[in-house]
This record gives sequence, structure tokens and C-alpha cells, in this order.
Amino acid sequence: MISSLIDYLNQSVTAYHAVLAAEAALLSKGFVKLDEKDAWKLEPGSKYYVIRSQSALAAWQMGSGDKTGVRLVGAHTDSPGLHLKPRAQYSKSGYVQLGVEVYGGPLLASWTDRDLSLAGRVILRKNGKLKVVPFKSDKVLLRVPQLAIHLNREVNEKGLKLNKQNHMPPILALESSDGSPVDSNVVEGLIADTLGVNREEIANWQLECYDTQQANTSGLNGEFLVSGRIDNLTMCHAAIQALTANDISTPQTALIALFDNEEIGSSTENGAASAFIRDIISRVVVSDGSKHDTQRALANSACISADGAHAIHPNYTEFHDPQHAIKMNQGPVIKVNANHRYATSAFTSAIFEQLCKDVDVPFQHYVHKTDLPCGSTIGPITATGLGIPVVDVGNAMLSMHSIRETAGIKDHEMMIQVLARFFTKDDLESVS
Ligand SMILES: [Zn+2]
Repeated sequence: MISSLIDYLNQSVTAYHAVLAAEAALLSKGFVKLDEKDAWKLEPGSKYYVIRSQSALAAWQMGSGDKTGVRLVGAHTDSPGLHLKPRAQYSKSGYVQLGVEVYGGPLLASWTDRDLSLAGRVILRKNGKLKVVPFKSDKVLLRVPQLAIHLNREVNEKGLKLNKQNHMPPILALESSDGSPVDSNVVEGLIADTLGVNREEIANWQLECYDTQQANTSGLNGEFLVSGRIDNLTMCHAAIQALTANDISTPQTALIALFDNEEIGSSTENGAASAFIRDIISRVVVSDGSKHDTQRALANSACISADGAHAIHPNYTEFHDPQHAIKMNQGPVIKVNANHRYATSAFTSAIFEQLCKDVDVPFQHYVHKTDLPCGSTIGPITATGLGIPVVDVGNAMLSMHSIRETAGIKDHEMMIQVLARFFTKDDLESVS
């Protein structure tokens, strides 16, 4: 299972690639692709998926019984990082650099002195038609070099302060290194060479930096997973694995939603605040044979929002609530916040705890330290948009939003077991 996760992390260098890799996994398990523009005829027990705007995906197995409603697992495909500006290329002090915007809230310092490359999507125009294709350069192309300590003597005492406009643009090349002029549109040239297309075919592109270092295990006993994008591709992978387990029977429709743009607030056409998942549920209800309406289906639905959780950091224990210090490889974490930055209620927590007990998996509780502002997830947005009970859970991890995060190896399998139990349990409300 871990090798499958590591493959998924390595393939999914952008949200777009995360959806492509998810699609490949679904197709291999017999899921059928649907287009939102078409009329749908859905069969009980059958398996389908939809991609919206290339970077979000919903997949589901129709319920086999006569119960309406869905059991939804939500996660997100995007991660914080550096995105290229449209007119990215400029020259300065003999270097060719690319202007970037900061997407979401990365730990900026972790992006310095890394072997970066470029990936994303390219829009090609051929015979008057637009086509979106994936782009990924396997070459190490870019670097954001730190200033030498000799020029910044107090950096270790005062901390590394990075100005997003001035200090984050990576270096791509030396200007005129062999005496010839640098390509005036080096990004377009790179795209054309990598994809084997003519420059005239390139209508537009959306590229971002990614770390070329591969995901790996680490630690004396291989107890850690180290990678970029652990938040939240591990939960995307867990959701896919739970849904595609062989020959599962789902009493209600089992649905996964992998949204884009969680890191910037979810308010996009395929983010959790969009109508994407409500649209899917409405169309499933019409076809589920129960003759119920969407409102009754939603009243019979529940959601697990799965995202990263902050493991206690041994060098910074003062940043953690001592009663809620969560640990790696000790099971899924239920995240609670009185101000509903996490959507968990006592009721949904009880249901999730029972799911863990059903499959003999331990669980933990996380509460953010009270004098620190708490982050959030797609959980409260989904609860608000659909009006259904949601539990916010995740696995313990360190260095969230670093270019290279750390998680526990054993937690992944445990989370998959619990999500699979959520999909297959006969009666979700029978909490004993
Ligand atoms: Zn996240």
C-alpha cells in the first residue's frame, strides 16, 4: 500500500496530475467516466466518476440497497506553492528568472535551495479547438538560492525573512551563457520542446514549481513517510483506495470528492464551496431508484472530511495543547474546534469513533492550542453547503505546508480501513 501511495505522490506534482493519477486508478477498477454535459443513466451498484475543470474529481459507487443519501469522503488535490506569472520571464544581473505568485500558505523557506522543476497544464489550439494537456518537465530547472550567511550574519538569530515579490523568483539560467541570445519566450520554448508541439499551437499555460525529489520512507525502522504534498494527497489516495477496494457492497451511494483550491479558500468552480458535489448528489438521487428528492437524500447523508493533522513536534512542544498531543502511527485523528474551524460535532465524532472500533483501529483527538488561531478544512464549507453532518479527521504529520512534509507510515493503512468501513457499514447510525 505504501508503494502505491509513494507512486501517487510522485505522479501528482500538481492538482491536475493528482486527478489524472486518480482517474487511472479508477479506470483500472472499472469506474466509468461521465460528462456533466450529458444525460446520465445510472445503475444500482455501478461505479462512475466525473472530472470538473481538470483538477477536481468525484467518484462513486451507487448504493446497492433502497436507502437514499450518500456517504461522502472529501479531500483536496491542491498544495501550497509557487505559480508562474503569465509574463514570467525576466533578466536581472545576468540571470534569467521566472516571476512567481505564492499560492496558498507555503513555508516559504522550505522552497529555497531545492531542485525545482515545472509542471501544470497547457492549452493547445488545433484546428480552432482547445485541448488541455498535462505538462511535466523531468529536468531540474529552477532554484531559489538563499543569501550566504556571510551577507546575512543574523539570519540564524533573527530568522529568514522572505519577501514574496523580491526573494522568491527562481533562477532558470544564465543570460547568454554561450554568447547567443536567450530565447525571448523561454517558457513557451520549453513547453514546445517537452510536448513536441509547435509554438503556434500553444494557446496558454498554467505552470507551477515542484520539487523533483521523490517521496520516500525514512527513519531507523522506516516509520516515516517524507514527501511534498502529504497535505492532502495522502487523504486523496486513502479515499480512492477505500472506494476501489475489490467487490465492496455499499448500502448507500459511496462518494468521494477531491476538490481543488482548498488552500486558497475553496471558492472556485471546482472547490468545496462550489455546487460541484451538490450537483453530483442531485443527479445520483434522480437515478438511485428510491424516488426520493435531494433534500431527503441529504438528510440521510454524512461526510468525512479528511485532511492533515498536526503531530506534536518534540522541539516545539509549547505550541501544542498538552491534552491533545497527537502522535504518528497511532491511528486517525478526530479534529475538534469549538468555533467550527473543524466541522466535527459530538455526534459525528461518536460515529467515526465507532467506525474505528469496528475495524480495531485506534484513534486520537486533536484540539488546536487555544491561544493560537486554528486552521480550517473543507469540512465546515461542506457542512454549510450541504447541511449534512461532517466529521473532520486526518493523520498526524509534521511540517505541514513545507515543500517536504513528514507523516507516519502505519496511519495510512488504518485510515483506509476506517474509510472503507464508512462506505460498507450496513447502518451508519447503529452506534453501540
Ligand atoms: Zn490540507
